[in-house]
Amino acid sequence: MINLETPKKFAPLIAQAHQVATEVFRPISRKYDLAEHEYPKELDMLASAIDGVNAGAGLDGAGAAGVRRESKGGDQGNRNGSNLSTVLSIMELCWGDVGLLLTMPRQGLGNAAIASVANEEQLARFDGRWAAMAITEPEAGSDSAAIRTTAVLDGEEYVLNGEKIYVTSGERADLVVVWATLDRTKGRAAIKSFVVERENPGLKLERLEHKLGIRASDTAAFRLEDCRVPKDDLLGSPEVDVKQGFGGAMQTFDNTRPLVAAMAVGLTRACLEEAREQLERAGVRVDHAAPAYTQHAAAARLQEMEADYEAARLLTLQAAWMADNSKPNSLHASMAKAKAGRTCVEVSLGCVELCGSLGYDERGLLEKWARDAKILDIFEGTQQIQLLIVARQLLGKTSADLR
Ligand SMILES: Cc1cc2nc3c(=O)[nH]c(=O)nc-3n(C[C@H](O)[C@H](O)[C@H](O)COP(=O)(O)OP(=O)(O)OC[C@H]3O[C@@H](n4cnc5c(N)ncnc54)[C@H](O)[C@@H]3O)c2cc1C
Repeated sequence: MINLETPKKFAPLIAQAHQVATEVFRPISRKYDLAEHEYPKELDMLASAIDGVNAGAGLDGAGAAGVRRESKGGDQGNRNGSNLSTVLSIMELCWGDVGLLLTMPRQGLGNAAIASVANEEQLARFDGRWAAMAITEPEAGSDSAAIRTTAVLDGEEYVLNGEKIYVTSGERADLVVVWATLDRTKGRAAIKSFVVERENPGLKLERLEHKLGIRASDTAAFRLEDCRVPKDDLLGSPEVDVKQGFGGAMQTFDNTRPLVAAMAVGLTRACLEEAREQLERAGVRVDHAAPAYTQHAAAARLQEMEADYEAARLLTLQAAWMADNSKPNSLHASMAKAKAGRTCVEVSLGCVELCGSLGYDERGLLEKWARDAKILDIFEGTQQIQLLIVARQLLGKTSADLR
């Protein structure tokens, strides 16, 4: 059974994340929305402080690197571990600003990939480094099995060639986790992830994208040209096990999708709070004890959106809790990501609508949040792809049966 109260031991972490969101993120939110591609230098000091807080609090890790699954064997009872603490802190930080969270040093999705599949030696070697994740290519977006970047073993190194686009933190991170195939004829099973030093001369930065939202976060495109990577920097097993299929690399998504869902949940709450405040200023109060149909239409609409927010939040907590308790959570991770991504887009636009010109105006942050929201329904698998995964799991179909 899942206990729906937030575990008491995480209260200090949540309070600290909220303080960072209020005192650091919100005040510079608009500045870096306008100054796209400028590095938010305020985050450097903050990242070190957060590392110190995690260490001091004795947490397994409250950042993206904290999503490792510990398999200790036997019945561990109910465990509220680092997956749960990570989603809770991400929710708070994204209540502050999603773009700034995405550009926090050492909190990249590549860090989550390393935490998910690296061996102990690699984990120690890459500890404390900031890692971006490069899966997407011009011909491979939703269908990550279509990846064309190749990795060929040459002595003690793999040689990588290909193109990667839309790499979040690609310019700023220290490392890039690159997905490449060892053998295109062997399909999904041959896709492996490689940790590439950002300074590797074979990893060439082509451009930075201009975007609708999350403008504080850099999004890079790369070319890999005879990019030589030490053999030991392949994450997981180098064996191509056709029976296991995508297993290793895809396991990352079970851990990262709840994180992206948590970003959406945090942003949704920010929108709802802002809209509630604006409505109260206009004399419209929400009464949760009275039936919605007896209230002002705007109050009833807000309550509807709050219900969607709660559902998204609980699904996200459940997916993370399952990861902490070594339960298979692919279905729940996709349900959480689908629900939270859609809710965040609908609620942010709904709040702009309720607040009228105040919601659309650059003097407030609602218009920015409505722009920031859409990416959360796209990356780490779009809304449609999450629903496809949910359908496959519920109907017992394979990716070949249902695509
Ligand atoms: C700002 C930003 C940051 C990003 N960061 C990263 C990153 O750090 N690392 C990384 O690897 N990638 C990143 N991405 C890429 C992102 O993950 C992809 O954009 C996403 O997976 C969708 O792929 P696509 O854009 O090629 O769209 P497509 O796959 O071409 O999809 C287009 C549309 O068709 C729908 N569709 C596709 N297939 C199906 C299907 N079988 N059934 C139903 N509908 C379908 C999709 O849902 C979508 O609506 C980022 C993208 C953006 C915009």
